[in-house]
Amino acid sequence: MRTLPSILVLAACTSGPAVPPIGLDPEPRPHPTADGVGSSYTLTFPEAAAQYLEVEAVFPATGDELELFMAGWTPGSYRIRDYARHVEALVASTPDGDRLPVRKSAVNRWVIDAADTADVVVRYKVFADGTSVRESRVEADAAVLNGAPTFLTAIDRLDRPHDVRFILPDAWADLATGLPPHPSGEPSRFRAPDFDVLVDSPILAGKLSILEWTLDGTPHRLAHLHAPPDFPGERTAADVEAISRATVAFWGGMPYRDYIYLNVLNGRGGGLEHKTSSLMFAHPDIMHDDDAYKKWLGLASHEFFHTWNVKRLRPEGLGPFNYEQPVLTPNLWVAEGLTSYYADLLLVRAELFTEEEWLSRLSRRIERTQAMKGRKVRSLEQASEDAWIKYYQPDANHDNVSTDYYSKGAVVGFLLDAEIRKKSGGWASLDDAMRLAYKRYSGERGYTAAAFQEVCEEVAGSPLEDFFERFVRGTAELDYAPALELYGLRFAHSEPNDPEIGQIGIQVSGGQITRITRGSPAWGADVIVGDELIAIDGHRLKGSVRDLLRGKPPGQQVELLLSRRDRLRKVRLGLAAPTDQSFTLEPRPDASLEARTHRTRLLGQPRPGSPESRAAARAKSSE
Ligand SMILES: [Zn+2]
Repeated sequence: MRTLPSILVLAACTSGPAVPPIGLDPEPRPHPTADGVGSSYTLTFPEAAAQYLEVEAVFPATGDELELFMAGWTPGSYRIRDYARHVEALVASTPDGDRLPVRKSAVNRWVIDAADTADVVVRYKVFADGTSVRESRVEADAAVLNGAPTFLTAIDRLDRPHDVRFILPDAWADLATGLPPHPSGEPSRFRAPDFDVLVDSPILAGKLSILEWTLDGTPHRLAHLHAPPDFPGERTAADVEAISRATVAFWGGMPYRDYIYLNVLNGRGGGLEHKTSSLMFAHPDIMHDDDAYKKWLGLASHEFFHTWNVKRLRPEGLGPFNYEQPVLTPNLWVAEGLTSYYADLLLVRAELFTEEEWLSRLSRRIERTQAMKGRKVRSLEQASEDAWIKYYQPDANHDNVSTDYYSKGAVVGFLLDAEIRKKSGGWASLDDAMRLAYKRYSGERGYTAAAFQEVCEEVAGSPLEDFFERFVRGTAELDYAPALELYGLRFAHSEPNDPEIGQIGIQVSGGQITRITRGSPAWGADVIVGDELIAIDGHRLKGSVRDLLRGKPPGQQVELLLSRRDRLRKVRLGLAAPTDQSFTLEPRPDASLEARTHRTRLLGQPRPGSPESRAAARAKSSE
């Protein structure tokens, strides 16, 4: 049983006086001086109902010209987003209000003539209608802000402090962020030590419900935006506290002074990790659906694990960031896949998931991995490097040519953990490898693929070259047998769904073919994505394709009636046998005591003096 924490409900009032909207010819008024900082921003929301925010920024002029840029992407979400397209009405002036010439030097860069002024005041508006955790969104009653799409900064002063002051509409009441407080102590002012921290610190403003607990004296908060009146915030906080406790126990300490989970109940999904916070989107009704709530707990666990794995223990290349170009790493499978593996495992260790629920989540990840034909085309390392053009830009052929480094990365984490436990005779685990990697590579230096493998081998006390060559750098079919044997598990036997129904290998949406599975009857049969499927064997498509194939066994010839460019055409092909295979894991009833002990150790926290904790001590002393 977990004991429930005592929870405080906080509401910090940060509202201030309304200010006039930014016009193209603003009246001169007092500005905060740049005061040695890289930039100083004041955010206002006079047109919140039209989804605009307004920024007044003061930059010290360090030369004849001041060059500003807006980031192109948000770390953690690997695609160039061109946030500058939402910037408008940008004007520059001296602190006295004299206009300064501005020209564009790139789509996301502005150059200001600053020869005759000590400070440059820049005003601009941002249209904020984002729908994801990597964008900003402003509405009449609330704002969800991310740094990258909001703050222009001076190209040569990224390492200077960035001050931010918020002047919120009166009704918004609260503000929550992981940004460090301003030395002035004003509740609505913050000071990021550099641009990275500003980008890494999303902000919620509006009517918030904020819950707090401490772990070894370190404050942790959970802020809900748009919580329905009957939302049981205390229960969510108790469960998220259990996650934070189990995760901190895993890593052995906290690398932050305080941490905040920012949760927006806006009906969307997704999460993004940050160094002292995480931003999560969820449905306001999650508490009415156990599955949805468990998924949300999985999201909270995933994002919090990132506080260590990727935000600090990071692949070489992911920091310091180039905010204008894609940066490649072959190690997103470690950053995302192993985070997914541990997110589930720590929910069991936090006693929020049963063993059965954990097996179910792992089974779905195996199914997803095995369903993608692309697993034979693109390795985990290649899929990591191609995230920018594959994972974040999937096309109709995606599953045929790519690998999901989240699901396959988690599955390979499960297999790698078992391999380390086997090779070390149960004395070490992937847990120890993660902690040793953290110790070595969470500072200035990121890890390479070779360095991560070396850490695993060191902890295992044995080479793992064959494992990494086949399953990480290569595209060999995963071998589940050693892990299943170690933990006393097996895949449940099941017949394919409807073995009598033949398969074509297409997905159809709204009558149009959206995907064709590599190697299926439709593949290479002059059936292409975008064709409209009208009928099979003279029967009009009204429901699902499966409905039309009922009673047609594998091997039977069928005739598809298709439309392409408004011309009808017929294609004959032979149906294939279903390829469904069950990947539902279950405990073997005849599992040995040793296998059950391994499973218990995997799912439970290592006890002081246990083989795992002794192995950790051994790994530390070997450095
Ligand atoms: Zn992640």
